[in-house]
Amino acid sequence: MLLRHTPKEVKEREGLTINPAKTCQPIGAMYAALGIHGCLPHSHGSQGCCSYHRSTLTRHYKEPVMAATSSFTEGASVFGGQANLLQSIETIFAVYDPDIIAVHSTCLSETIGDDLQQITKKAKDDSKIPEGKYVIYASTPSFIGSHITGYANMVTGMAEQFSVSTGEKKDQVNIVAGWMEPSDMREIKDISKAMGAKIVLFPDTSDVLDAPQTGKHEIYPKGGVTVEELKSTGDSKCSLALGCISAEPAAIALDKKHKVPFETLDMPIGLSATDRFIMSLSKAAGVKVPAEITAARGRLVDVMADMEQYFHGKKVALFGDPDQLIPLVEFLLDLNMKPVHIVSGTPGQRFEKRMKEVLVRAPGANFKNGLNADMFLLHQWIKNEPVDLLIGNTYGKYIARDEDIPFIRFGFPILDRIGHSYFPNVGYNGALRLVEKILSVLMDRQDRTALEEKFELVM
Ligand code: SF4
Repeated sequence: MLLRHTPKEVKEREGLTINPAKTCQPIGAMYAALGIHGCLPHSHGSQGCCSYHRSTLTRHYKEPVMAATSSFTEGASVFGGQANLLQSIETIFAVYDPDIIAVHSTCLSETIGDDLQQITKKAKDDSKIPEGKYVIYASTPSFIGSHITGYANMVTGMAEQFSVSTGEKKDQVNIVAGWMEPSDMREIKDISKAMGAKIVLFPDTSDVLDAPQTGKHEIYPKGGVTVEELKSTGDSKCSLALGCISAEPAAIALDKKHKVPFETLDMPIGLSATDRFIMSLSKAAGVKVPAEITAARGRLVDVMADMEQYFHGKKVALFGDPDQLIPLVEFLLDLNMKPVHIVSGTPGQRFEKRMKEVLVRAPGANFKNGLNADMFLLHQWIKNEPVDLLIGNTYGKYIARDEDIPFIRFGFPILDRIGHSYFPNVGYNGALRLVEKILSVLMDRQDRTALEEKFELVM
């Protein structure tokens, strides 16, 4: 009973969040920056912030995460960190030789009022950025938003600060990846390749945070979207943004700057969202859906139909990040399950609107996001209406243990299991994996608690 003090009675709370269902903005910015080839993320703040961001990513990905910091001390904390950042830029290019430094702010530098655009311009004017190298930036104050907001801000920074328009359109489609795993980004590329669609996927953390063991440490692994690819996004014929919170702002930026039209889609998690992604990509790239994709869909539908009896009516509680929760809830509804409690610490009216559209099929479901939408509230809701399944990141294990609920780890961070970096959740194959995971925990529960006379060898 680790959470034994969580009371059943839900009371209105203001100004108090207990066990937040989110983490800090710069973590998202750092993750996004790692999806550019040859990029060193830089945390403009104190060493402690940078250590926290790096260690959280390392614990989730089980990979070393390289990043630099402006190393604020008392002086910078009072008078501003411009001198620290200018010195950092010079030192980083001299010692670590990245192609790009991606600077994000922190609570401290935002509170002081450091202007990253002005400081990076000064670095350029003072010739601290070598020829052919780049410094980009994103404002990521962590006292608002979440890691998802920070991710969106850095991806928007990539679009705004790298893209150029040559006046000649390229036969390619931008795919702006919402916050997803390296395995998901790899799957998006594989699907696009199978369809014959020419794409620029950004950011792209595959082959960066799931890099193979070669016996040699690479500060800049071979993966990541290249500068040339990012520049070319201004010439693409259109953009598909996979997520209304974490991906759409970058697509809007490209539309504003270079008139690249865009379509916002849900992240392709589950059957319906993947269907929409495949059809939109087919239309945008002018390619047909090949037989192998149709067959993958068919296998998923077959399993969903065969196993429906085990899913039907099962109540589910979920917490996590907006662009993943929206299609995941839709997929649970497609499986005839009942999402009853949904919580996300990430604020946003776009998120609320889209989730409410999906929840039309789940009347009476509890949904809350933003401030006070925390794990404590989720636990209280579960105490009042118990569920058959809990889905969320590693922090859910405390509720799962106390309430004895089958639990699937999904989202960020996953600190106590592996697999998320290597097996996708997106696309038809990802959906099939999700079905398998859900079914496995439900059947494990049944096998553990069934009466002896009802204990079945065959499902
Ligand atoms: S101080 Fe702000 S930026 Fe630094 S780790 Fe804490 S929440 Fe994140």
